[in-house]
Amino acid sequence: MTADPIDREVSELKFREPEKGRALADALARTVRRAVEKTGRSPIAVMHVCGSHEQAIAKFGLRAAFPRELDVIMGPGCPVCVTDLPEVDEAVALATDGVIVATYGDMVRVPGTAMSLADARSEGARVEVVYSASHAVELARSTDKQVVFFASGFETTAVATAAVLLKGTPPNFSVLSAHKYIPPVMEIVAEMPGTRVEGFLAAGHAATITGWGIFESFVERHGIPVVVAGFEPLDILAGLLKLVELIRDSTARVENMYPRCVTREGNRRAQEQLWKVFRPTGGRWRGIAHVPNGNLRLRGEWSSVDARQRFRIDAARMWKHSPAALVERCLCVDIMAGIRSPTDCALFARECSPDSPVGACMVSTEGTCRIWSQYGGGYPDLGGSR
Ligand code: SF4
Repeated sequence: MTADPIDREVSELKFREPEKGRALADALARTVRRAVEKTGRSPIAVMHVCGSHEQAIAKFGLRAAFPRELDVIMGPGCPVCVTDLPEVDEAVALATDGVIVATYGDMVRVPGTAMSLADARSEGARVEVVYSASHAVELARSTDKQVVFFASGFETTAVATAAVLLKGTPPNFSVLSAHKYIPPVMEIVAEMPGTRVEGFLAAGHAATITGWGIFESFVERHGIPVVVAGFEPLDILAGLLKLVELIRDSTARVENMYPRCVTREGNRRAQEQLWKVFRPTGGRWRGIAHVPNGNLRLRGEWSSVDARQRFRIDAARMWKHSPAALVERCLCVDIMAGIRSPTDCALFARECSPDSPVGACMVSTEGTCRIWSQYGGGYPDLGGSR
C-alpha cells in the first residue's frame, strides 16, 4: 500500500522537508488539473473530518498551497463543537445543583442554551478543568462530594474514559458521556442531498483505534474513496494527493497513508475496552442533527457510574431561556456541515473572538473559527474567503 517513492518517504518519518513539501504540492496541482479534465468537475471537493487536520492546514499555511480547483472542506471534526446544546445543559444543570463537574478545558466555555459551565462557575458552581479521565478520578478521590466527569471527544478519548472505568473508580465518581463516534457521521455527509464531497480524508489518530478496515464497508456503500492521513504537513499533502488520484481514476477504495501508526485491524485491545463500556446510540450532533449511532453512551452494565442514571438531571429548566441575540447569528451549524466558512460569518473576528466566543466553533482549539482566527484561513488572495 506504500509502494511509490513519495509514499515511502512519508512513511519513513521525514515530515517537514520543504523540498518534499514543494514536490508534493506540485504533484497535487498536476493531479487536480488532470482530475478536473477527466471528470469535468471543478472544483474537486474533498472533506476532512478532523479538527487536527484543519489545525495543521492552517498552522503550516497549506491552504495557500492548494490549487484553486481543489476545495478542501472542513467537516464536523471538532468534538467540542459538535457537543449538542442539551448535553451542555445537562452538565450545567448538574453543576448548578451542587455536583462538582470535571471536564476538559475547552468544554467550560461552550455555550449551552442558557449558560456555559464558565457562567455557572461565576455564579458559584464548582467546575474543575481536568486533563484526562484519570485526573477526574483523582479529583473524586480527593473529596467526599459527588464528582461527575463530563466526558467529550471522539473514540480516541472515549477509550481513555473506558479504561478508567474498567480499572475501578471511587463511589462518588460518575460519567456524563458526550462522547461521539466518527464513522456514522461520514454516512450522513455522504447522503446529504446535493453534497459535493467526492472523497474523505480520515483522521489518523481515530483510525489507530478503529483500524482503516472500518471504512471499507462505507466505501462499498457510497462509492466514495477514503484516505487515512496523519497530521504532519507532508502527511496531509500526501493524503490529499492520494485522494485526488483515486477521484481522478474513479476508484473508490480505502488507502492508508499513515502506516506508521494505523493498521487494518487497529488497536484490538482498545476496541475491546471501548465496546465493553460504551454502546453506540443515535443522537444529535450540533450542526449535523440526528446521527444514527453517532453518540457513545455507557452500556447498561455501567449504570451505577452513569450520571444520567445516578442523578435526576433537570436540563429542561434551561430551555425556558431564549438564546442570546448574538448566538442566533452564529453560523457554526453551517460551518460544521461544510457549507460555509468562518469568514462568511459577520461576527467573525468582530463580536466573536477566542477571548469572547459566541459559538462553539470559536471555543475549541479544534474549532474552525478558532483555528482561522489564530492562524488565518482561506486563500489569502481571495481575502480570506474559501
Ligand atoms: Fe459562530 Fe463565532 Fe464562528 Fe461566527 S465566528 S460562526 S459566531 S463561532
